[in-house]
Formats: sequence, C-alpha cells, structure tokens
Amino acid sequence: MNRLQAFAADLLQREGALVEPIEPEGLEVLAPPALQRAIEIPELCRLGFGSTLPPAARRVGIEADWLARFARMIGERGKWTRRVLRPSNPPLAGVERLLEHELALPNAIYRLRGIGAAWTRYLIFDFRFTALSDEKREGLLRFGVNLATGSMLDGALERLLQRLDTEEEASAPDDADLPPVWDRARILGVVDRALRWRLQRQIAPFAASLQRRSARDQARLYDYHNRLLQDAARRLAALPEGDGRRERERQRSVAIEREYRARLDDLARKYALKITAEWAQTLELVMPVQRLDMLIRRRKGERLVQLDWNPLARRLEALPCAFGHAGDGTRLVCDDALHVVSPAGLAGCGGCGRPYCRVCHPGRCPKCGRPDAAPTMSADQDCHPANPG
Ligand SMILES: [Zn+2]
Ligand SMILES: [Zn+2]
Repeated sequence: MNRLQAFAADLLQREGALVEPIEPEGLEVLAPPALQRAIEIPELCRLGFGSTLPPAARRVGIEADWLARFARMIGERGKWTRRVLRPSNPPLAGVERLLEHELALPNAIYRLRGIGAAWTRYLIFDFRFTALSDEKREGLLRFGVNLATGSMLDGALERLLQRLDTEEEASAPDDADLPPVWDRARILGVVDRALRWRLQRQIAPFAASLQRRSARDQARLYDYHNRLLQDAARRLAALPEGDGRRERERQRSVAIEREYRARLDDLARKYALKITAEWAQTLELVMPVQRLDMLIRRRKGERLVQLDWNPLARRLEALPCAFGHAGDGTRLVCDDALHVVSPAGLAGCGGCGRPYCRVCHPGRCPKCGRPDAAPTMSADQDCHPANPG
C-alpha cells in the first residue's frame, strides 16, 4: 500500500468502515451512514490511489478536496496529544567535556554543581505559516520548550521526534517531580516570541528576494520617469518666455511626478509582505532526563540555572534565552540582573552604539532613549531557568 492509501484505510476503519485492499493500489469501502455523509461517498465504493485505478474506482490524491474530507473526518482529534515515555536514562559520563563542547558562554564562567536523573515535560508546537506577497510561500514551523528549564529544543528536536515512533508508551512513577504546565499567558508569551524569531529566519530568503525585486522595479520606474521629466525640461528651455506652450510643459512635468508617486505606491502594495501563522497541533511529552545544576558567575553576581540532557536525542539542551527564546547558539550574561540572553539581547544600541540588556531595558536604550527595533519582552515574561511555573 502506498502511504496515502494506508492512511486512508486506517482512518476509514477507525470511522467504522469495512475496508478491503484491491489491486492496483485501491480500497473497497463499505461505509456506515455517518461516514457516507461526512466525506460524500456512497455506501459501497472503490477508491484508487495509484496512477492506474482499479475498475470503477474514484481517484484519491493529495488534491485539496480529499485532504479537506480527511480533515473533516479527523476533526479536532490529534491537535493535542500527550505521550509519556520511559527510555533508559543512564547517568551521564564526561559531563565536563560535554559542557566545554556544547556551552558557549563567552562573558561568564560556570561551575557544575550537580547532576542527576529528573523528569520533565515538553510542549512541542506545530504551526502552519503563509508568507504572501506577489508570490506565496507556505510551510510548517515546529519548536518545543522544556517546561522545567525553559530551554527551547531546536538542536535536540529533530532527533527527539525521530525516536518517538519507536518508543513504547509508559507512565510516570507517582513520585516523579514533574514541572507544572505553565499558565496560558506564559505559554502564549513563549509561543509569540519563539514563533516571531523562527518565522523571521525561515522567511529571510523570500523577504530578501522580494526586496531585490522591489529595488529593481523602483530603479526602473525612476529611470523612466526621470527621462520623461528631463525631456519636458529640455522642451521648456527651448521655448521663449511668454509662449503659451510653456504652461503645457509645466503641467506635463507635474503630471509625470504625480504618476511616478502613484506607481511607487503600487509597487509598495505589490511587494508588501503579509505573514500569518496558524496553530496546527501540540504534543505534550513527559519523560526522564539528566538534569545539570549549574552556577553562572558574571563579575560579582551569580545565579543558578538548570539544563537538561535528553537521553532520547542524546543532546544537551541550550540555555534558555530570556530575550527572544532563541534556540541554539551563544549566550551572554548581563551585568545587572544576570539575564542569560542570545547576543541579540545584549547587542549595541542602534543610536549610541552602547550594548545594553534588552530584558532589563525592554523597548529602548537606557542611555540615549532610542527605541529598539527588535522584538522586546517585558521582564515578567522572563522564563527564568531556575524558577519555572
Ligand atoms: Zn542608545
Ligand atoms: Zn538584564
């Protein structure tokens, strides 16, 4: 069976249909009345999934029509799923070397305080996005967050998800110290920021190509209208004072300028980029990890943070960024409150050039007051790694 055929057979059977595979790449379906109505098929029908159809079969492909019918059948099911896994979680060896290799913390020092088995809860989100301009881009965006530490899962996510299919469903022991599910506002805060950054990155090549084409069209418009204006100016200069045709040339120049502005507006509309993201599904994943307690020191300050090592992905998760929920990469620590942020969160001000912490000073530079163009967050949304919930 091809994949779509297997998927359809599975789904139809769950909905109470009797399903029999037929050759080539088809299904014979006996559907109960509710299912007949839901996806507009008769009681007895044949469906074909390959390039050659069985006799008297309807063709089922990934055309929007059939996807919409399947979506109607599935409804809200699967939008929220919860899995509890209990893979082997042996003590971690060579932690110091692992930290040296994985932790990029150039302006602070850290010390490992302890390590041990723990439980955590992840939320893994799928969003569908559309970027619409004179062209359209669509895609899926997936990211996850560890509710115990606040870490985003970027570097570990793909390997983790690959392992999910082969893991047995389990249950957590009664004494498992699970982090609580965050409240709605906190989750939305993380999703909003995480989505923004990842969308920006995903769409960057598309946005750059729009920008290039827009600049090229603007240059063409300018050249064309500039030539017309210069011609009009030349004709005007050739006419003697008091000649009635001079006024007509002046009028023409005004009209050319007006036309130029209108065409520029058209271009701006044509290349305007509208991005929408729609939530598709969330997976709650409960599983054991190895938890590292670490002390981070910067100047005279210090703070505790926790980092998890995921035994399925076999990866150390990244330190959470208090500014933008960035995934992997370098982290810097701010002087005043020891916020751990990605380099963008401690970047130089666009006005005075002085670096400042975007979590301590959301929105604008404390030195010169210039508003920050990058997305900002308020301090109460800080996903403090040592203080979940
Ligand atoms: Zn400044
Ligand atoms: Zn700070």
